[in-house]
Amino acid sequence: AAKQDGRGCNRMFEPKMDLDAKRRTQLEIGLRRALQENELEMHYQPLMDVRSGTIKGYESLLRWRRGENDVLLPTEFIEIAEDTGLIVPLGEWIIRTAIAEAATWPENISVAINLSPTQMKNPSLISTVISALANNAMDPARVEFEITESVLLEESEVNIKTLHVLRDLGVKIALDDFGTGFSSLNYLRAFPFDKIKIDKCFVTEMETRDDCRAIIRAVMGLARDLGMKTTAEGIENQTHVDLLKAEGCDYMQGFLFSRPIPGRYLPRKDETAENRSTIPDELHEKGR
Ligand code: C2E
Ligand code: MG
Ligand code: MG
Ligand code: MG
Repeated sequence: AAKQDGRGCNRMFEPKMDLDAKRRTQLEIGLRRALQENELEMHYQPLMDVRSGTIKGYESLLRWRRGENDVLLPTEFIEIAEDTGLIVPLGEWIIRTAIAEAATWPENISVAINLSPTQMKNPSLISTVISALANNAMDPARVEFEITESVLLEESEVNIKTLHVLRDLGVKIALDDFGTGFSSLNYLRAFPFDKIKIDKCFVTEMETRDDCRAIIRAVMGLARDLGMKTTAEGIENQTHVDLLKAEGCDYMQGFLFSRPIPGRYLPRKDETAENRSTIPDELHEKGR
């Protein structure tokens, strides 16, 4: 099975999820039903602006709620969605939902949406984004798409064109999980990303490993020289904050600030003291 994130940075050499055919078929059937029966929901994790100490936006993260206390994480089913092509309708639902929910937030708060390689290749992606923005009168500058290096590995010419078309709409583009794939510096030349997200495995190990700290420092310097912003994922304690601040990191994300939260508990632009909702303790994601 795929290793949990945060243990070592060489995830590209890991085998694909080790599921037998029966289990895969069950998950595929379940996922098809989940789309129809509204078992999917987006949770949102704050992206902190380090300098001001305020929330600058939220990353949208998919959840599959099969029962009240049975929530599947994307690492358990995204790969199957990719392999079966279900990621295309799923991805369309994600884009529409995340943009519609973000349109209810205060206007200075942005939303980040993950895009998988198969979604990138799909010709309907652009029209989905255009109509989601239009339907919600959403300022494109408040929307950011996160892609991983794998998007630049395959079909890179087509995908780079798509990235340019997306950006011409006014949205931002971030390079996610930087450092875990082949991390060719050419990828940073292939497209002028707005932001680089340093993978959490480097953050997790920066306290104990000088090499991780050196890599983080180098990526920060590179991003600065290329005019890109940086986010560090997996911030779990104050030492992480202090070390990354010292390296000049722009944004931080991690359990120290908040776990991903269901959309209905986020602040709204029309919020008053009366209609404000607080997050019940039992809804915080536990156990990871
Ligand atoms: P990602 O895009 O790198 O998202 C960050 C992951 O790190 C999330 O896991 C988040 O819950 C987790 N995380 C955040 N802070 C911490 C921390 O302090 N410590 C630790 N240990 N983990 C932290 P999640 O939600 O399980 O998602 C895993 C991956 O699944 C995502 O990695 C992304 O690649 C994919 N994914 C999630 N939602 C979507 C989606 O809507 N569409 C697509 N295509 N992929 C998605
Ligand atoms: Mg991401
Ligand atoms: Mg990431
Ligand atoms: Mg990651």
